[in-house]
Amino acid sequence: MDDQQLEHILFRSFDVIPLPILVSESTASQGHMSPDRIPLRRHLFLNRAFREQLGYELQDLPDMESWFHLAYPDESYRNSVIQAWHNQIEQSLHHGLEVAEMPALIRCKSGHSRWFIVTAQLGADAIPDSHIVTFRDIHDLQCMVEEVSRLSCTDPLTELTNRRGAQQQLQALWLQGQPLSVVLGDIDHFKQVNDRYGHPAGDAALCAVAHAMAGQLLPGESLARWGGEEFLLILPGCDIEQAARRAEQLRQHVSTTRLPWQGKQIALTISLGCASMKGQESIDYLLMMADRALYQAKEQGRNRVVISAQ
Ligand code: GH3
Ligand code: MG
Ligand code: MG
Repeated sequence: MDDQQLEHILFRSFDVIPLPILVSESTASQGHMSPDRIPLRRHLFLNRAFREQLGYELQDLPDMESWFHLAYPDESYRNSVIQAWHNQIEQSLHHGLEVAEMPALIRCKSGHSRWFIVTAQLGADAIPDSHIVTFRDIHDLQCMVEEVSRLSCTDPLTELTNRRGAQQQLQALWLQGQPLSVVLGDIDHFKQVNDRYGHPAGDAALCAVAHAMAGQLLPGESLARWGGEEFLLILPGCDIEQAARRAEQLRQHVSTTRLPWQGKQIALTISLGCASMKGQESIDYLLMMADRALYQAKEQGRNRVVISAQ
């Protein structure tokens, strides 16, 4: 039996493996790449599971370049995948590993995109110059993980980001070291809404205020339900004057909002406290300053904006 026959038998045996498999060989000397840094490799074989799960035939993807354009049609995503592969391969080689792997969202022939873990062989003794890429479909698991992480950062009543989500955003912004302001808002005399009209009216009032404020957000700003009837506005890149202006606009908007409830129109107002990052203070300190300013707004009669003295 010659090498080609052996190769044929080996490739055919891949048809019984339930993971999609793609085999390629290099068409240029090691390390040669296309202009967008995709290795120059010709595809030799893809197995039955590849055809069944990804839908493509070998003639659809004669080489690695055509594969990358089919699998990642969006140019910026494709470039991020290429960059990530270069990093992964470098790391794997550094650790003396024979494979590099990473998750990727692949466009299948049907037009649907699915998440796979792609594992690429780095060097092969068995079939010189060839290497094997396998794909593990993790789409359902990945969607579940994304949904759980979305839910863990979402307030179910108002559908705003919850405190956990806001803390994650603040932490990320703090690490960037950019100017940052926060505005803590609290509905005035909210307990009276519950007491007079009932808890469901209180819930509806929370949603009304949340949606009124959320509808006013500018690009880059975000709003979270911080606690019971408290909302946190995160203003990246804003100084204290800009934050106070935005707080005043939101205050005015909420004060003109009415909650229709059983034939009545419930008026709602909010008090707001603003604080700004001056140096390298902690997020907790920034929030404490906003909370103090909010407390003063309440003390001074509510339905107003107070800037933290700091
Ligand atoms: P202030 O102007 O000083 O802020 O007065 P307030 O009545 O708004 O503040 P207080 O802290 O006395 O009451 C807040 C109330 O918010 C008490 C709590 O039962 C109610 N609350 C917190 N979360 C919810 C919720 O999810 N739904 C409803 N309906 N009420 C809530
Ligand atoms: Mg309140
Ligand atoms: Mg409160």
